[in-house]
Amino acid sequence: MWNVEINKNLCKRCKICIQTCPRKVFDENEGDDVIVAHLGDCTGCQLCVRHCPEFALSVEEQ
Ligand code: SF4
Ligand code: SF4
Repeated sequence: MWNVEINKNLCKRCKICIQTCPRKVFDENEGDDVIVAHLGDCTGCQLCVRHCPEFALSVEEQ
């Protein structure tokens, strides 16, 4: 099981993580915030962490 966290103070809502994640873990809510919508589908590949331009993501095994 992986824990995916978005630092809302750093996130600029660029949506790159939504496009990058091969498991579609991220989505956006009605307020246009990026959210972790399908945590159980995360494989811990770290692609999102590497592509986030704001260093707003962390993915750690728990
Ligand atoms: S890639 Fe980073 S800055 Fe862009 S929406 Fe995702 S968490 Fe936010
Ligand atoms: S670590 Fe991989 S599977 Fe998990 S949210 Fe990031 S891109 Fe998606």
